[in-house]
Amino acid sequence: MDNIVSLAKRRGFLFQSSGIYGGLANSWDYGPLGTLLKNNIKNEWIKFFVTSRDDIVLLDSSILQSSKVWEASGHVDHFHDPLIDCLKCKKRFRADQILEEKLNIKAEGLKNEDMDKLIFENNIKCEVCGGSFTKVRNFNMMFKTTLGSLEDNGETVFLRPETAQGIFINFDNILKSSRVKIPFGVAQIGKVFRNEITAGNFIFRTLEFEQLEIEYFINPRDADKYFDELLKYTEKWYSHIGIHKKNLKYVELDENQRAHYSKKTIDIYFNFPFGFKELESFANRGDYDLTKHSQASGKNLNYNDQEKRESFIPFVIEPSIGLDRLILALLVNGYREEEVNGRKRIFLKLSHRLSPYQIGIFPLLKDGKIDKMALDLYNLLKFKYRVVYDDAGSIGKRYRRQDEIGTPKCITFDVQTLDDNMVTVRDRDTTEQERIKIADIDSYLDSCFI
Ligand code: ATP
Repeated sequence: MDNIVSLAKRRGFLFQSSGIYGGLANSWDYGPLGTLLKNNIKNEWIKFFVTSRDDIVLLDSSILQSSKVWEASGHVDHFHDPLIDCLKCKKRFRADQILEEKLNIKAEGLKNEDMDKLIFENNIKCEVCGGSFTKVRNFNMMFKTTLGSLEDNGETVFLRPETAQGIFINFDNILKSSRVKIPFGVAQIGKVFRNEITAGNFIFRTLEFEQLEIEYFINPRDADKYFDELLKYTEKWYSHIGIHKKNLKYVELDENQRAHYSKKTIDIYFNFPFGFKELESFANRGDYDLTKHSQASGKNLNYNDQEKRESFIPFVIEPSIGLDRLILALLVNGYREEEVNGRKRIFLKLSHRLSPYQIGIFPLLKDGKIDKMALDLYNLLKFKYRVVYDDAGSIGKRYRRQDEIGTPKCITFDVQTLDDNMVTVRDRDTTEQERIKIADIDSYLDSCFI
């Protein structure tokens, strides 16, 4: 994990937020390369789940929504973590996480009384000072803010803790404006905020993060069929972006472990350096949310199937990925160290679909001829691929720079290029090199990046 954090900071993927003021805990800023990687993931996700299908549309709803949304959805009453405080050093912990760590059980969703009992029976103490704990209490995780200029009289609003509700409250708008027919999905990418009691493990658990979510609306009687179909499609997504099957685990939650709205949940775990942990939650939310919003707003949110002459509140299948956790998973999944000629080589095996850059272009000499040829190719390719031009330092250094940030192909112009119009193309993963005619480069790259 330390190697990954160090690489991410060194190469400008991630920076500690507010670093010049000593930092804000559990908040991270994406640097130039991290931002490129993040945007490439978002674009690829939209291609894979939205534009390459004809049954899913996009939405971008607001972060601030009426507080009635969160009352109706149950977040005001139910969206809390079970917390315990150490009576001696006053440090605060999440009771379910402590139980999971100490007893190796799945504690999410256990009743507070049951957690109290387990802590007492197993004599679990504060890991910092050995003190005893308070009883488990609920802590609502939504951040609050105030609308309007008067702090005292302003209306309280919440920063959204999930993007999903923005989809449910726009269900009727989308039905009327998009002419979608069930089964159909609405996909959304956006920032969410959670006041986590214990955060940490780099970008695994942060206070603000982005989610990639889909609400897939279906006829209730087809719930199992679409749950399985979408889950299979999700498995393909992970292989499409190069995540190894062996790094993923699909864990079905028991009834008492599931969120209050869920009829069935499979958590998709990734093999992080600190163990297999949740990367995505894949749930059948039933008709819970639309029913609650329909009741609270007085708006009819039924779907009328004209052909089958049926009217019903749809069920919804929800794949929900944490984008920042996915970025950490991709860094872990791709990080490689090997020894070449007695020297350590670090490279990041990122899919060409996601890597910040796909191609590095290096002229070996700045003689006005070789570098001109290299620049010409750079200027040609940069409108089609993600290309970086690097003419600084030894060739070895330039390869190392690109290896570490996951650039799959590097093209070098050397003295011989002047005679034969050929360049050396080096592969990130194998370090194998081949000579390719400049005229053939575009079609060669096309075949590499399918
Ligand atoms: P956890 O059990 O880890 O707290 P969760 O079950 O509360 O997660 P969901 O509400 O299902 O998470 O959210 C969907 C996804 O959002 C998660 O699978 C995870 O990838 C991501 N996520 C949730 N909380 C955080 C966080 N604090 N920081 C980063 N990503 C998060």
